[in-house]
Amino acid sequence: MKCLIKIFTLIKSFVKSIKINYPIAKNTWFGSGGKTSIFFEAQSIISLKFFLSLLPINIPIFTIGMGSNILIRDGGIRGVTIKLKGDFNKIIIDKSNNVLKVGSGVKNIDLAKFCEVNNIGGFEFLIGIPGSVGGSVKMNAGCFKQSISDLITKITVIDRLGKIHTINKEKINFSYRKTEIPNQHIIIDSTFNMQKKSKTLIKNKMKSISLKRKTVQPTNTRTGGSTFKNTKSFKAWELIEKINFRGKSLGGAKISKLHPNFIINYNNAKSLDIEVLGEEIVEEVRKKTGIRLEWEIKRVGNFEKI
Ligand SMILES: Cc1cc2nc3c(=O)[nH]c(=O)nc-3n(C[C@H](O)[C@H](O)[C@H](O)COP(=O)(O)OP(=O)(O)OC[C@H]3O[C@@H](n4cnc5c(N)ncnc54)[C@H](O)[C@@H]3O)c2cc1C
Repeated sequence: MKCLIKIFTLIKSFVKSIKINYPIAKNTWFGSGGKTSIFFEAQSIISLKFFLSLLPINIPIFTIGMGSNILIRDGGIRGVTIKLKGDFNKIIIDKSNNVLKVGSGVKNIDLAKFCEVNNIGGFEFLIGIPGSVGGSVKMNAGCFKQSISDLITKITVIDRLGKIHTINKEKINFSYRKTEIPNQHIIIDSTFNMQKKSKTLIKNKMKSISLKRKTVQPTNTRTGGSTFKNTKSFKAWELIEKINFRGKSLGGAKISKLHPNFIINYNNAKSLDIEVLGEEIVEEVRKKTGIRLEWEIKRVGNFEKI
């Protein structure tokens, strides 16, 4: 009987958490793109496990964080989009092992501020990266010569069948803005080493990072951050500079005048405007320099049917 009550409580909570034909664009920084067939906001590991166990295996899943590094195409996402909330927003200090366990739904900015309050150093760079911890681990986000992989010891993931696994750092294969974590795995939490640091030093470092970013990047605009990855020899913006594309627009999309590796949705852009403008950059840079830029922004979903 107890078990039955638990199942019904879960089903009841799902009804609120599941949305059909949901306009997922509003959950992204770009704010463009189509709908997702099903949107599920998971509040706990139990509900996520239960949901995955009920979901037919042929239905694809996509995990969304803060949507700060993705472009959802105008035809939307066929399948289920999952967002981690509730229990996934916890940060736990484990003093006996000198580690920090952070849920994937936690915003980078909140983690950085939590570390400041608790005199924990090393996380200051996250103040300027507007994603969730889950998305940042998946992307191996970083800036100012630091990336999230520097601090991590292990992650916990849930697979498509609802089974939980621990993956140690060495098995994640972190590289520049990339990991080998399979797309159908959802990162539920990450464990980081802790090091003590004075609050004043942390505060000052975060201040200087925020200030620097504001002067060189369009941080308060509808954008997906750096559109392309840097190459081994050149920064992506240096290559785009060679083709003089600052300020160039297409439909409602525009290349930032402040930072040419940022594309902005300045006037109700379609995702197609943004993607085609990006592809024009790739083509022109290739013609001019022989170098092929690689997209850092993840483009997901389908093109709109005409
Ligand atoms: C103004 C601006 C500045 C930025 N500056 C930087 C920067 O300096 N450095 C940098 O590295 N990035 C930067 N970014 C990009 C972005 O903020 C980071 O990549 C961020 O870590 C993405 O996190 P997110 O939660 O938004 O992920 P999303 O954009 O939602 O998703 C990104 C990828 O991660 C996957 N994902 C998300 N959550 C999970 C999860 N729990 N489990 C498994 N997979 C998951 C998604 O499926 C997707 O493939 C910037 C973006 C903006 C808009």
